[in-house]
Amino acid sequence: MSLRNILDEHDPILRGKCYEVTLFNDRLGMILDDMKETMTAADGVGLAAPQIGIPKRICVVSVDGKTFYELVNPVIVKTEGTQRGVEGCLSIPGKHGLVERPKTVWVEAKDRTGKLCKYKVTDLTAVAFCHEIDHLDGILFVDKLIDTKKE
Ligand code: ZN
Repeated sequence: MSLRNILDEHDPILRGKCYEVTLFNDRLGMILDDMKETMTAADGVGLAAPQIGIPKRICVVSVDGKTFYELVNPVIVKTEGTQRGVEGCLSIPGKHGLVERPKTVWVEAKDRTGKLCKYKVTDLTAVAFCHEIDHLDGILFVDKLIDTKKE
């Protein structure tokens, strides 16, 4: 495993749409392992492949540092409720802001072997799933900031 460089928000890769993963091979496993290691070293709760310069639909999430989710080609199939919380991003160091997300999300994704997995996650884990899946479509949390002055 090795640590990867995390790109900052000015890199165009972070604004592009990522490609579906079609090969579930050793290279995919290596990318996932590197992403986990890089996320943990950076003290993050999630990381998407475009953040390390790979424009593929892959992300990892771990809110508690114990349960690691590996999401390949993830799709949000259903959401319920809303929650608001302050978010940050490893690609936008030093910046934080209030974002509204679903309270609960149902997600279908492949694992590193290509097996379809279904997840139902809530609270912070739901926020992290949505934040990372947004990255795969070139969307950053700063695009979704709530303007509290307007309300
Ligand atoms: Zn991010």
